[in-house]
Amino acid sequence: MSEIPQGFEFDVIIVGGGHAGCEAALASSRLGARTLLTSLNLENIATMPCNPAIGGPAKSNLVREVDAIGGEMGLAADATYLQMKMLNRSKGPAVRALRAQSDKKEYMKYMRNVLEKQENLFLKQCSAVDLIVRDNKICGVIDELGHKYLAGAVVLTTGTSLSGKIFIGLQSFPAGRLGEMPAIGLSGALEREGITVKKLKTGTPARVDSRTVDYSKTTIQPGDEELNFFSFEPDRPIREQIPCYLTRTTRQTHEIILANLDRSPLYSGLIQGIGPRYCPSIEDKVVRFSERESHHIFIEPEGRDTYETYIQGFSTSLPADVQLKMLRSLPGLENVWIVKPAYAVEYDYVPAVQLSHSLMTKQIEGLFCAGQINGTSGYEEAAAQGLIAGINAARLVERKSMITLSRSSSYIGTLIDDLVTKDIEEPYRMLTSRSEYRLVLRQDNADERLTPLGYRIGLISKERWARFKDKQRTIKKEITRLHKTRVSPDEEINGTLARYNEEIKMNYSLAELIKRPGLNYEAVKKIDKTAQNADFPREIREQVEVQLKYSGYIERQNAQIDQAGKLEKIKIPEDIDYQGIIQLSQESRDRLSKIRPVNLAQASRIGGVNPADISILLVILESKRRMLVRTSDYNKMS
Ligand SMILES: Cc1cc2nc3c(=O)[nH]c(=O)nc-3n(C[C@H](O)[C@H](O)[C@H](O)COP(=O)(O)OP(=O)(O)OC[C@H]3O[C@@H](n4cnc5c(N)ncnc54)[C@H](O)[C@@H]3O)c2cc1C
Repeated sequence: MSEIPQGFEFDVIIVGGGHAGCEAALASSRLGARTLLTSLNLENIATMPCNPAIGGPAKSNLVREVDAIGGEMGLAADATYLQMKMLNRSKGPAVRALRAQSDKKEYMKYMRNVLEKQENLFLKQCSAVDLIVRDNKICGVIDELGHKYLAGAVVLTTGTSLSGKIFIGLQSFPAGRLGEMPAIGLSGALEREGITVKKLKTGTPARVDSRTVDYSKTTIQPGDEELNFFSFEPDRPIREQIPCYLTRTTRQTHEIILANLDRSPLYSGLIQGIGPRYCPSIEDKVVRFSERESHHIFIEPEGRDTYETYIQGFSTSLPADVQLKMLRSLPGLENVWIVKPAYAVEYDYVPAVQLSHSLMTKQIEGLFCAGQINGTSGYEEAAAQGLIAGINAARLVERKSMITLSRSSSYIGTLIDDLVTKDIEEPYRMLTSRSEYRLVLRQDNADERLTPLGYRIGLISKERWARFKDKQRTIKKEITRLHKTRVSPDEEINGTLARYNEEIKMNYSLAELIKRPGLNYEAVKKIDKTAQNADFPREIREQVEVQLKYSGYIERQNAQIDQAGKLEKIKIPEDIDYQGIIQLSQESRDRLSKIRPVNLAQASRIGGVNPADISILLVILESKRRMLVRTSDYNKMS
């Protein structure tokens, strides 16, 4: 164990032990900062209050990126899965997505164990109720017993707990999650320091007893036979997989919902916070898509040693008696027993336009926010932000420069840029469509994109770095070999190619053949007579194939990135007075003054700032730059 703290002084304090808090605490302590992690209930570290699953479209990219930089989520998901599934397998690599059904309790135990064993990290169960701020700099937090904890950086990762209020039908009570108290005090402290706090809402379905489900009326959803993992680390555990099941809503379900809408806190106006558009409640789905006769409902296990089962797609805030009727109208659930009711929660968040790309607040130096508090929803989004905030908090106290990720480098960069640039008014979820560079930001190449950063800042070990370099060398060598190896048409080769409805009439390189729609690396291997065609691990074979097959698209996207990079390079001075630029529309002046973009590319992404405004800014920045050059030339001469 690290040296026991004598007082209450730390380098970094993390408030909240959810997915953002865990990554932030691990990153900060692994980078050498003495870190305190406080949470309302240490038994609930890294809990999944909603779906017991990690990954899925775009979210799997985030998990792989977290892993590539040296975070923990991928390792935790690999160690505790009940089932692994590669979604969109038949589609292009940009949208393929790994999803793990997780053992919720095991996941929490795994993370708690990692946190406890981590050097430089101390855990404390308490509620941070106030902030200590001096001269716009954070100095620490105060807990509910009045204890002061001092630090040069504080990361708030309070999830849905800030002034949380749960709704079940028309009943409501203060709580951050079912069975956990809300965090009271911090919202007021933030507002006192000039930080705006607003409300959002989210909801979760009921948990039922699996012994009361008749699975013979449902469709089994097994995991993949050929396993994939999140972490780029080798030797991931092979575990027995547990299936999920599929059922559906019926006409009766829809009738029950429609007949009880007046008992919904959402429809009766009791909840004011806006909910997640991409994860709507079942009543929202039935009302908004009234033409649909049925919706898919997945029955997902929560663990190996529990009967508690999650009903995915059935989130609701209708009263408990209505929930029971609704559930019992689903095929297979006619006699179901509810273990925990569905509920909605309304909570305070800090609109992230008040943060810079490092996730530090612009208002208070050293105060960072990450996860659901920034208006996002989802474990993966939280973990990704936690990692960046934890890294930057540790770097701040060491007086090192902040790490920021560009949109073209990662989904993490895209997520953070969206949060700090766009005024988000509903829970933000990562989607592949949010990235303009999704062909190059694939889950399969997250290590290539981000492990060099992880190594440079000190989160990737020397051994892992050596393995990474070796992998990249092998991929490059094999691609070069496939370009160089040429085949000529003959009976044997065309006989093999005919099996794939392909044929050659002249010489081709193997690389050219892989690009053909009917062929892939495995198929080309059958006509590759060179001895070097060793049996590479699947991750290498996949990389070689993706890089060759999609090389045209990837090159085009890289050119697009270079083009966009030109605007990124035009920095905007921090002290620019937008209100004084009368050529800009008033809306642009207001939006730019509020968000204060760091460069012209970010300015161009702000809603309400149109291309004409960007041209005006470009001219003004250019003339300012020229004036500066002229002044410095004059100074040099005189
Ligand atoms: C009811 C519900 C439904 C959800 N539905 C969805 C969904 O449909 N889709 C989806 O993607 N995500 C959903 N989520 C969100 C998902 O759970 C979160 O996005 C994710 O867990 C956020 O991670 P986090 O680390 O930001 O916060 P959390 O995981 O919520 O962790 C916050 C932690 O901070 C602690 N804490 C809070 N305040 C204090 C304080 N003042 N002092 C000390 N500790 C404090 C809490 O105890 C908790 O441990 C839902 C969450 C809930 C509760």
